[in-house]
Amino acid sequence: MTHSIKDNPITDKKAMHQKTIADIIAGLNAGEFTSVEITQHYLNRIKQLDGTYNSFITVNEESALAQAEAADKRRAEGDAPALCGVPIAHKDIFCTNGVRTSCGSKMLDNFVPPYDATVVENFANAGAVVLGKTNMDEFAMGSSNETSFYGPVKNPWDTNTVPGGSSGGSAAAVAAHLTPGATATDTGGSIRQPAALCGITGLKPTYGRVSRWGMIAFASSLDQGGPMARTAEDCALLLNVMASFDPKDSTSIDREVPDYTANLNQPLDGLKVGIPKEYFEEGLNPGTEQAVHDALAELEKQGATLVSISLPHTKLAVPAYYVIAPAEASANLSRFDGVRYGHRCEDPKDLRDMYMRTRAEGFGDEVKRRILVGAYCLSAGYYDAYYRKAQQVRRLIKQDFVDAFEQVDVIMGPTSPSPAFEFGAKGDDPVAMYLEDIYTIATNLAGLPGMSVPCGLVDDKPVGLQIIGNYFDESRMLNVAHQFQQVTDWHQQAPTGIDVEGAE
Ligand code: GLN
Repeated sequence: MTHSIKDNPITDKKAMHQKTIADIIAGLNAGEFTSVEITQHYLNRIKQLDGTYNSFITVNEESALAQAEAADKRRAEGDAPALCGVPIAHKDIFCTNGVRTSCGSKMLDNFVPPYDATVVENFANAGAVVLGKTNMDEFAMGSSNETSFYGPVKNPWDTNTVPGGSSGGSAAAVAAHLTPGATATDTGGSIRQPAALCGITGLKPTYGRVSRWGMIAFASSLDQGGPMARTAEDCALLLNVMASFDPKDSTSIDREVPDYTANLNQPLDGLKVGIPKEYFEEGLNPGTEQAVHDALAELEKQGATLVSISLPHTKLAVPAYYVIAPAEASANLSRFDGVRYGHRCEDPKDLRDMYMRTRAEGFGDEVKRRILVGAYCLSAGYYDAYYRKAQQVRRLIKQDFVDAFEQVDVIMGPTSPSPAFEFGAKGDDPVAMYLEDIYTIATNLAGLPGMSVPCGLVDDKPVGLQIIGNYFDESRMLNVAHQFQQVTDWHQQAPTGIDVEGAE
């Protein structure tokens, strides 16, 4: 396997699509290329390559070029906000004014929002150029991108394998260098697990850090948007723009947004890293385990101390999540009834027939499964047995982390139990699929931030190191990830087959 970027480390010798967001900003500032040029370059690549990966649902060729032109003009006039002219992509869960927002579902195949999500607006204000909307599991339910109405996304490292989910489109697009960065969302692992399986960097912020307004709701107490890119530095640049207090989101937290790039270069001397023993038990692929241990050894060399810790309720995270998330989903998805917007069945004979056929036709199997489970858990007589019990377990899980953070600064372990698996491998067994998120789900239940950083290749497939931080400690997590990326080159490795002849 060849790793194209590794041999070509000098910024201005990199092909356009090999540049990081930091490189692109520097190149635009230095006048080496224009936003129109780099945007066109990415649009050409999407045209050439995305037939294979299926990472985009919608490509905004015309509006992207118009935004790029406007950005070039702004820059020429001396008014260049943070991401002026930088191409990005949005997960198709973020509402975009005038551009179809499908959430990976037939239900919303015809939905063109009349407004932008706050996240989308934040990127527009920062001058970013939106290449398109990325593919995803239907309503963000899944870990493999196999539940999308628009077909599965293929992992650029091995197209017989899944990219992870639910933000598999964003992850695959970044990994294949079809965009330098993308937005994503994480309810139980959907930023970190696909980032791990596609060999890129992804960050799920603290709950409340990024506005959920205009981000189609799956499980409102768990959903959180965050960035995906190739490096920690790029994630910091994206998070600077993505994070904001939003009065339109009642769970948004009114807290200053720091400059997430400010601490990237702090040395790691004295950093205390908690290693939960429960994250290295049965079910973890030995190659993944080795890669994580090697990564931890690398951090020790930089002055970090490893502290063995216990998160005793880890085993209960997946069962608690699969009560709470479906319960919230069953309530959130009740709005899709054929009355207001989205799919409506043909010729309903009465209201009830319309509800039933609209929902039967519009939702896929996994979404239906979640609605059934959720409605059951919330029904009279079962609420106390399931929903209330799951909320009590959630409290215990949170307490495990609160106790751990009394002793350590960050917690680390694998992001997911194994590298990318083949299509269909877990198709008949929802529980096997649910266990993909065994190391990521607890952080969502606790509302903590987590990130995944590439830390090795197992059978030529990427695996991720997970970094869990304390509440609002994203700067420190990014610092640790950036320092790791200064002494390793896993984040610079790229899949074969993505370097095609193109406009360069
Ligand atoms: N894989 C988990 C699920 O299917 C998490 C999804 C997510 O984070 N959006 O619910």
